[in-house]
Amino acid sequence: MGSAAAQEQAPAGVTLPIYMDNQATSPLDLRVLEAMTPYFTSKFGNAASRNHAFGWEAEQAVETAREQVARLIGANAKEIIFTSGATESDNLAIKGVAEMYHERGNHIITQVTEHKAVLDTCKRLEKYGYRVTYLPVKADGLIDLEDLMRAMDEKTILVTIMAANNEIGVLQPIREIGRLCHEKGVLFHTDAVQAAGKVSFNVNEDNVDLASISAHKIYGPKGVGALYVRRRNPRVQISAQIDGGGHERGMRSGTLNVPGIVGLGKACEIAQEEMKEEGRRLEALRDRLKQKLESELDYVHVNGSMERRLPGNLNMSFVYVEGESLLMGINDVAVSSGSACTSATLEPSYVLKALGLGDDVAHSSIRFGLGRFNTRAEVDYVAAKVVDVVKKLRELSPLYEMVKEGIDLTKIEWQAH
Ligand SMILES: *Cc1c(COP(=O)(O)O)cnc(C)c1O
Repeated sequence: MGSAAAQEQAPAGVTLPIYMDNQATSPLDLRVLEAMTPYFTSKFGNAASRNHAFGWEAEQAVETAREQVARLIGANAKEIIFTSGATESDNLAIKGVAEMYHERGNHIITQVTEHKAVLDTCKRLEKYGYRVTYLPVKADGLIDLEDLMRAMDEKTILVTIMAANNEIGVLQPIREIGRLCHEKGVLFHTDAVQAAGKVSFNVNEDNVDLASISAHKIYGPKGVGALYVRRRNPRVQISAQIDGGGHERGMRSGTLNVPGIVGLGKACEIAQEEMKEEGRRLEALRDRLKQKLESELDYVHVNGSMERRLPGNLNMSFVYVEGESLLMGINDVAVSSGSACTSATLEPSYVLKALGLGDDVAHSSIRFGLGRFNTRAEVDYVAAKVVDVVKKLRELSPLYEMVKEGIDLTKIEWQAH
């Protein structure tokens, strides 16, 4: 990657490799870095130091960031708890509610395409005696609200459903989910990592009680995030999962990551100011990429709803192409595949499988994650490259050949070997 040879083939204005995996992480915005820098150097105080100016300065920066985060999601600053990232926020929200409300009930509802930070937290709670319902999704990746209603019972204490999916970009109907929860007196947590700062997200309008946020998905630094916890209508209480010095009003102990928090705040402020325009730009780029791929290739399809979707996300399957060969062919473009490299084995993505995709089609899928710094020239390069590689691979594919000849692959009896 990034070799001189590869660079020679890049058209003007394009630097290889191209980063198009912004749902995995996003580059730091230099304006964010600039805001953070003094808090690594001259303003290094501990925000909990009450006796001197170094501490006050740090504390003030943290409180400014708290306001910036709150403003982005329509919350009050007092409702924001800083964490080490969304994995911790998801854990704190779900375990914190489960522990606090265990006398009221032991049932939690989530859905199968959640991030592992939610799914594995729920699995752990099952070991401790909680009951968890994992709702399926429809072929478009969205949950069925009827399923949700049916799943709720008198023991349900929490529903946790993500706002936007990190693989297929679909936007769940969180406002309706929140309304249903509140009608039943059930708390609603949403993993809003991919939504907050990218599409409109407001904890009051969207009926959300707890929401997880991460800085590094919105051009902030890694290792810092926040959890929103509603303080009124209803007042939500959570049990701390990390004990110690009583920081963050006892809900999350540990010396605050001041530079990181300043960065998260700045990233939220920029997102709030630029989200609308950026969303329009990314949607246009995304649709351009989609249009180019669909017009030049057959047997390609989009995974997940196109109507309810993040502006910068395109997840496509290239049927009759071997996934690994495809990724190798476009190795100067950083994207994610439909294979999750868990342990040594190449497992097809559980999100794509939940939509009903077979293993082979899931493996042949690519997530293009467009972000703030992607350009039209990059989109055009990536589209041309993918088209070229897919066409070449299909020339070598006996399956594709047979399909073109009109043979129905589902009717073939394959010889066992
Ligand atoms: C990235 C991500 C997380 C985890 O966030 P970290 O800050 O990296 O721990 C959780 N949920 C979703 C939807 C994500 O995309």
